[in-house]
Amino acid sequence: MFKNLHELLQSMPTEKDCRDYLIEQRWGGCPVCPYCGYSDKTYLIENGKRFKCGASQDVCGKKYSVTVGTIFESSRIPLTKWLNAVYVVTAHKKGISSHQLGRDLGVTQRTAWFMIHRIREMMKNVSNEMLQGAVEVDETYMSRKYKSDYKGLSPEQVEYAQKSPYTNKGAVVGIKERDGDIRVFAFDDRKAAPIKQAIYNNVMEGSRIMTDEAFIYRTGLEQYQHAAVFHAKKEWVRNDVHTNGVENFWGVMKRAIHGTWHQISFKHLQAYCNECSYRYNTRKMKDADRFTLSLQNMERRLTWVKLTKKS
Ligand SMILES: [Zn+2]
Repeated sequence: MFKNLHELLQSMPTEKDCRDYLIEQRWGGCPVCPYCGYSDKTYLIENGKRFKCGASQDVCGKKYSVTVGTIFESSRIPLTKWLNAVYVVTAHKKGISSHQLGRDLGVTQRTAWFMIHRIREMMKNVSNEMLQGAVEVDETYMSRKYKSDYKGLSPEQVEYAQKSPYTNKGAVVGIKERDGDIRVFAFDDRKAAPIKQAIYNNVMEGSRIMTDEAFIYRTGLEQYQHAAVFHAKKEWVRNDVHTNGVENFWGVMKRAIHGTWHQISFKHLQAYCNECSYRYNTRKMKDADRFTLSLQNMERRLTWVKLTKKS
């Protein structure tokens, strides 16, 4: 087993090595047809590059490779480059820009950009467990909006909205279990209802919720024990009441934006939130373990059309 990028590249130098590795990670070494889920029988074809479903022709019998139904599907980029990219994107503390990854791998910036977005599909937190105990909630503003993000507004309204530092960015809310995971959600703006809905969906009733004094938290949190610190009165911590965990995360994410991506669009804000919170929640893990964990989520797809369609 490899311990770093150098060892990864050495241990899987060929396409066949990478395919075998993915077959092991995805199916424990025994391919299961992704079209019908029929796993009894599989034939190796094309020198072991692909498989043929063992079900009869009228049921399925389709041919497939290990990348069908994964983030790697229909890509012309060799798997050696893909695995290199997965390692780098999941390991780098501040992420990596598409320009840098393109230069590192010898692919175009556009290709690298698409690769990173596909890899982000694997970096979504999958736990549905409710957060509990002491839970911090805090919000901030990030990204930038373009004209296409203001659908339904008149040109005058768009111009007005773009001038405001609040409406021209996405609102981002972090919900973090003290000493535990953070979940981060992007919203069009700082409306109370969707932000509270995110709290209801993620925090167990009866938990202690800690926020600042913002008006959005003043009502609607009766099913929790709610305590607030008053930033306006220069109060950041009162006994164990604070939102320092979430604020620490904002620092990490903003450093990634300023240092690596420079500017992120509102359209992809949630994907950037997913990437940063995923890395944050796995920060105590070794890079090689995070790489393996990420590949457990390879059965997700993101097509170019879905990624680039005007919302
Ligand atoms: Zn099949």
